[in-house]
Amino acid sequence: MVEQTQESLVQKWGEILEEYDYVQKIKTISDNYPDKRSLKVLYDDIDHYDSDLASLLLTSPEKVISAGEDAIKEYIPPTEEGVKISLRISDIPKDLRTEVRKIRSKHLGNFLSVEGIVKRASEVRPRVHKAVFECGRCGTNIIIYQDDAILHEPMECPKEEGGCGRARGSTRFKPLISKSSFIDTQNVEIQERPEKLRGGALAQFLTAMIEEDQTGYVYPGDRIIINGILKTRMMRKSGNQMTLFDIYLEVNSIDRMDPDLEEIEVSEEDQQKIDELAADPDIYSKMVQSISPTIYGLNIEKEALVLQLFGGVGKTMEDGTKIRGDIHILLVGDPGTAKSQLLSQMANITPRGIYASGKSSTSAGLTAAAVKDESGDGRWTLEAGALVLADKGLACVDELDKMSKQDSSSMHEAMEQQTISVAKAGITATLQARCSVLGAANPKEGRFDRDEYLFGQINMPPTLLSRFDLIFPFMDKPNTKEDTKIATHILRSHLLGEMIMKMKDAESDMEIPEDFKDMLENLKPAINPELLRKYVYIAKKIYPVLSDEAIEALKKYYLEVRKLGEGEGKAIPITARQLEAFVRLSEASARGRMSSEVTADDAERAIKVSKEFFRRVLGRGEYEGWDTDIVSTGKPKEQRDKMKMIKDMVTDLMRHDSEGFIEDDFVKAANDVLQMLDSEAKRYFDKMKSDGLIYQTTTAGGKDIYKPTREL
Ligand code: ADP
Ligand code: MG
Repeated sequence: MVEQTQESLVQKWGEILEEYDYVQKIKTISDNYPDKRSLKVLYDDIDHYDSDLASLLLTSPEKVISAGEDAIKEYIPPTEEGVKISLRISDIPKDLRTEVRKIRSKHLGNFLSVEGIVKRASEVRPRVHKAVFECGRCGTNIIIYQDDAILHEPMECPKEEGGCGRARGSTRFKPLISKSSFIDTQNVEIQERPEKLRGGALAQFLTAMIEEDQTGYVYPGDRIIINGILKTRMMRKSGNQMTLFDIYLEVNSIDRMDPDLEEIEVSEEDQQKIDELAADPDIYSKMVQSISPTIYGLNIEKEALVLQLFGGVGKTMEDGTKIRGDIHILLVGDPGTAKSQLLSQMANITPRGIYASGKSSTSAGLTAAAVKDESGDGRWTLEAGALVLADKGLACVDELDKMSKQDSSSMHEAMEQQTISVAKAGITATLQARCSVLGAANPKEGRFDRDEYLFGQINMPPTLLSRFDLIFPFMDKPNTKEDTKIATHILRSHLLGEMIMKMKDAESDMEIPEDFKDMLENLKPAINPELLRKYVYIAKKIYPVLSDEAIEALKKYYLEVRKLGEGEGKAIPITARQLEAFVRLSEASARGRMSSEVTADDAERAIKVSKEFFRRVLGRGEYEGWDTDIVSTGKPKEQRDKMKMIKDMVTDLMRHDSEGFIEDDFVKAANDVLQMLDSEAKRYFDKMKSDGLIYQTTTAGGKDIYKPTREL
């Protein structure tokens, strides 16, 4: 391309502004100045008019943009004095986008378009742009334009501007704040979108500097495309300049990603395969088989995970109440039962799936946090954790029981309202966390104690547990029959893996033996993860509606179970919360078949997986003793009742002798009154002691005397 002079550039810009109706917009902006200060020009308009100019913009953005701003000036009505309109170039075509991980030094000074999720966003703070100094000796005002993080002072009081000519050493320069001018600035950090990271790669980050009227609009978790110029700044280490430079994007414009048009591309061929799958009567068994085929068994759990992929329909009622559609599932169990394996698989299959650990080392943890950016300029910065980054996706959180206290309290809000509020150090924000949560946790003591109720053994607040639609215990119970199957499966799949690796070696004449062909077939997902992801993506656009039959089926089952709780002293088996879960699961089941109607079969599927949860967690056996309050109190009703009876018994003991009682009295009373065995009575005695319900007052005749701490 021929060298373009500044004038010819300005002229070209003038033509573009006229050709594409930007002139009227400039007038409107001038009228509304300074509320409006930017003119957004579409990249395609430049490209259509003059593709050379568009290319020049990409390589010499500063030159082209300043020519554009000069051209704009010509169209500002002469009556509007002091109006300065910034030129913002937006809607850069997708094929010109640069991935964060591909940014290199050759891009310095180029105009880049980069997409990502906002991980951090700082407060908006003014930065001095035109600094005015006063010479301490002669009082001359000196203007220094600042374009760097470090304040530049005058080197001398310039004679040519009427100053005294003294150098910095022999005078002082005092900054005049009131005469200086400032611009708003904000730092943000974006990270690659999780769905672009396959195979457990770590996300990479890019810092971006936003200025003026663009500040204050982006929040952590937002999916944006930032367009701007790649710049560098020198890194400093304890005051010393280093040869290493840091890069950042000086933002020219910000585009939001269209949530409906984004990310996953479904070709015509894909669509055809998806249609075939949707029509397949075996779709569910195929999907279940496709979730971690190397993991043996766990079919009900896998079916629940399939439903979670699709999720129910989120609703906003007429009165503004929101009901979540996302399904939350918790896997809790013994170590080595493939929980982590399932989680990482699910993060991989789900569009917008994120795998995180409750022990996460970042300050934002699972939810969000306001942190002070100590390494940078010390501003307060809002940082998004896994649940915010997984907005509209699936957050797979391993070691959920190890999360911090702060996370645990925000999780309640995140899982029900699907937002996360942060209020700290002047930062108040409510971030969106519209995601499903798939959690994994270990029992308190590392392994389930099979004699104790399951719920008391999960190290999480019961109120948080009750937010999960489904909870599945993973018990590792030695059982020769099952163990043989699992061992055979694991060993054979390893052996098969070895053979496959060996076949890749050209020298080897390895062939898969006939009797392994079946296994090879079974270990291969019926639907490959790539296609399943697209299938889910399309299915989630469907809004199924409950049919009369589905409503009837859910109601019937709900009432049937509730009936178990009728009568004196019975535990409440399930509550309306579970009914809502049924609805979500049924809707998900319809989506899984790509159907816009929730049928009785969908309701049955929802009931089937829920029943498994009730059966294993709420009680023992098919219907026996289901007790929903286990979820909220961690104890089954009979244990809650027993403790109450013990307390009554202690009150009686005290009535008998207000001085207190010894352990033997306690045990004997428990024998007599409650028909309790000695061992159990002793356990309750120890428990009351350790819970601080009773304490030792004195010793008499070699025996410790106990009293209740307070009114029991
Ligand atoms: P957890 O997170 O429950 O402690 P992991 O997911 O780390 O367990 O699993 C440990 C290993 O055991 C994994 O390599 C997993 O594949 C294997 N494993 C456990 N259960 C099964 C199973 N049912 N079928 C196949 N492999 C299994
Ligand atoms: Mg694990």
